[in-house]
Amino acid sequence: MPAMPAPARRNQFLPFSPPLLGEEEIREVVDTLRSDWITTGPKTKRFEADFAEHLGAPSALALSSCTAGLHTALATLGVGPGDEVITTPLTFTASVNVIEHVGARPVLVDVEPDTLNLSPAAVEAAVSWNTSAILPVHYAGHPVDLDPIADIARRFDLALVEDAAHALPARYKGRLIGSGDNPVSFSFYATKNLTTAEGGMLTGGAAFLERARVLSLHGMSRDAWKRYDKGGSWRYEVLAPGFKYNMTDIQASLGLCQLRKLPAFQARRREVVRLYEAGFGHEPALELPVERPDVEHAWHLYVLRLRPEALRIGRDQFIDELTARNIGTSVHFIPIHLHPYYRDKYRYVPERFPVALRNYERMVSLPLHPRLSDQDVADVIEAVLDVVHAYRR
Ligand SMILES: *Cc1c(COP(=O)(O)O)cnc(C)c1O
Repeated sequence: MPAMPAPARRNQFLPFSPPLLGEEEIREVVDTLRSDWITTGPKTKRFEADFAEHLGAPSALALSSCTAGLHTALATLGVGPGDEVITTPLTFTASVNVIEHVGARPVLVDVEPDTLNLSPAAVEAAVSWNTSAILPVHYAGHPVDLDPIADIARRFDLALVEDAAHALPARYKGRLIGSGDNPVSFSFYATKNLTTAEGGMLTGGAAFLERARVLSLHGMSRDAWKRYDKGGSWRYEVLAPGFKYNMTDIQASLGLCQLRKLPAFQARRREVVRLYEAGFGHEPALELPVERPDVEHAWHLYVLRLRPEALRIGRDQFIDELTARNIGTSVHFIPIHLHPYYRDKYRYVPERFPVALRNYERMVSLPLHPRLSDQDVADVIEAVLDVVHAYRR
């Protein structure tokens, strides 16, 4: 009998980014549920300390999300109406929504063609008398070119608030993202490199984070308690109309376990990336993600770019073809200036940020997470190459 041709598709759908939680996490959560502390308590404290130590950060503040961290950081800095904050169009909407939340104006500037990160030259060109902060996003986990951006911030006396939702752990010129004195916000959302289901961490200088801590919990000063010791622990003072952004010990239980596993998670992400590079490296219709020589990529996302001149189908149909082959994918991101709220409020035309637009139109994020088996990765490579071969121009 002639050999059957190899099946062109896997039987089971491969999810884009499922969480990887084990018995340790389950035990730790149950331990919390059996304790007297289910909201912010000893485990949150321990998670903050472990996280700061892991990164070599001066201090860390655990919060309900990365969005909460960015919002709290801008509010603590006093960024508000009349201020401009320079950021990227190629990000999740949270990075820009928080600028609107404090009443400031987001000023979008285009990205660099290789990393798709905020361009330092474009940032400098956008600085005005009203600029008060720069908010770079470490896109896909590849660090932003921080030295020239920090230099612009210094020269024009601007705050530097980093969106590090993808950048755990990542290094820029040997330094871990989040190890410096400026505010840096991490995400522990379900799809991120470390998850607490929902959650986030703000790192930065200790004095700044103490002010941020007050603002993140109703603006209540706990130091006020000390002034009324002797039986006065019920007393507090509201110093500002703050937010309700604290992390719970249930979330921190997950975080404590996930942080211990992070090095192994990252090793597996790098292995998967090497397999993708070996599988796609010789295919002229595909442009692979880069890792500049002076950085360590966190490899949160594997963003493949299609070369339209080499294919008869566009990105949207490419995704449909992969879905038909049971491969889950995503797109990161629909540029901010295409969304109706931002497009209409700031009168953006799509061509305003050509690098973000052109790359958005041809990008597809492939599954990249530590749960992928070698067979899963082989299935993704086979499916992608199958589609390329079927629609080569
Ligand atoms: C996920 C994400 C966020 C938001 O993180 P949350 O923890 O869900 O608030 C912010 N910025 C970027 C770039 C993200 O991908």
